Amino acid sequence: MILLAAATAAYAWVVGFVIDKATGLEAGDDAVSIAKKYGIAILPVLVGVPLISGISNYLQRVLTNSIALNAVADLQKQMLAASHAADYASFTREPIGNRISKFVSDVTVISGALIRVLSNLIKDLLTVIFTIGVMLWQNWMLSLAMAVFLIAIWPIIAISQKMRGSAKDVQQHVGLITSELKESFSGARMVKSYGLEAHENQRLGQSFDKRISLYLKLVTQKARVDPILEVLGGLALAAMVIFGVFQLSSGYATAGSVAAVVTGIFILSPRLRALGTLNNVFQEGLSSLTRIFDVIDEKPAITDRKGAKNLANPKGHVAVQKVHFSYEDGTEALAGISIEAKPGELIALVGESGSGKSTVINLIPRLYDVDHGSITIDGTDVKDLTLESLRRNIALVSQDVTLFNDSVAANIRFGDLSASRNDIEKAAEAAAATGFITALPDGFDTIIGEDGDTLSGGQKQRLAIARAILRDAPILLLDEATSALDAQSEAKVQAALEVLGKGRTQIVIAHRLSTVQKADRIYVLEKGKVAETGTHATLSKKKGGIYARLKDLQMG
Ligand code: ADP
Repeated sequence: MILLAAATAAYAWVVGFVIDKATGLEAGDDAVSIAKKYGIAILPVLVGVPLISGISNYLQRVLTNSIALNAVADLQKQMLAASHAADYASFTREPIGNRISKFVSDVTVISGALIRVLSNLIKDLLTVIFTIGVMLWQNWMLSLAMAVFLIAIWPIIAISQKMRGSAKDVQQHVGLITSELKESFSGARMVKSYGLEAHENQRLGQSFDKRISLYLKLVTQKARVDPILEVLGGLALAAMVIFGVFQLSSGYATAGSVAAVVTGIFILSPRLRALGTLNNVFQEGLSSLTRIFDVIDEKPAITDRKGAKNLANPKGHVAVQKVHFSYEDGTEALAGISIEAKPGELIALVGESGSGKSTVINLIPRLYDVDHGSITIDGTDVKDLTLESLRRNIALVSQDVTLFNDSVAANIRFGDLSASRNDIEKAAEAAAATGFITALPDGFDTIIGEDGDTLSGGQKQRLAIARAILRDAPILLLDEATSALDAQSEAKVQAALEVLGKGRTQIVIAHRLSTVQKADRIYVLEKGKVAETGTHATLSKKKGGIYARLKDLQMG
């Protein structure tokens, strides 16, 4: 960049040099004697300067792009690590699409800005400095007329402040569009079956239109910079031409020095304009960078305490003691709840929707932290355990099974990343899943599509159970599927759960009669509290009890 800037600035000097030499010719000099006198000296300059300029141009382009791309990949990796380290709550706080757009759209803005800043800022700034140096050296008085240009600074600052706000609006809106698209496409089944295509097209179309107006606002702000610089550049040139003619006619300066300064102006003008518009790019980049650093700088609240203990070979005694918990929006989900699961027990949580069952399940692996009270495992507060060891000893099976667009084997392996193929097949066998897996086109290597769309509800459940079996954790948290399983699948899933539950402490959000009947203890939740405790037999007999009523309603 330094080379390129110096070579560019040298053009001004070359012109002055040539003209001064030319005007220094004596009368009667012919072409041959000119060449003899000066040609040898001028030729290397005329050829050498563009050569250096060309080579350095190529090198700086390749280098700056590689620097910018590397920087962007670093940002993406840091953002990803920070996202995964962030509290679970942060995923419910921000629409997923908005976060995705930071990885895709904002980084593109930044890499564009970075490439321009890296290649233009330094090069143009250096070119400007070197050129002004040559101009001052050649004819300082004339060069000072250029100061007219400085007036441009004030409006540009005002514009760039507005621009940063507009750029932020645009990027936020891109995030919104990403969210909406994700929603719309992942809801394709509902959209099609309800005939909502036109409605979705219109809804998203409005979003695209909104983007036009937001983006145009940014563009109109950007577009003001160039004309301002252009007009002021013209003024500066006019001032210098007038002053230059005056200098020449009064014999103050040589033609060469005036020509050098005028050439300098031609070199400076596009660069100064580029620096002005570069500021636009810079402001856009800054606004995207702010969005990215919001993610990178987010400090998770749920982390390992100093001196946190490793939970090794736990027996699986889980105790929830007088726990209070409210979600960020202030919804009180648990109001002093106490639940105990001794090693190997099956505990059923029942209660109306919204009574706090899922919240209890969320608090045990510290997806959220309790506000008051405590949760202990084998007598140790979960907050005093390392997150890694706590979560390693818990297997969570929920009714909405998470499957990735990968092979069946890979999806089961998420239970234990170090598992061998043999372990995986054994786990699948225990989960009564081998039958349907081997019937798939590529068996365990079949790619199951995003969210496992090619599988039935019962098959997905059994994959989730195989995953949990592979995890082999002493504590099992289960959110039973409410419905959607036919009797045959239900029986298979049930059998798989039997195998999974053996010898483990199970806390189950129960919907099936068979589960509650087997449970060592049932906790009936109401408004975040335990309203009744007992076994199926004792609770069923309780006249007017919530469980008796629920049982009649739900289980017949
Ligand atoms: P259940 O599992 O028994 O249906 P939940 O534990 O899901 O009940 O919910 C308990 C209460 O907490 C409800 O009032 C519910 O609306 C609220 N709630 C659940 N999840 C969230 C959340 N992420 N943000 C805010 N409120 C929530």
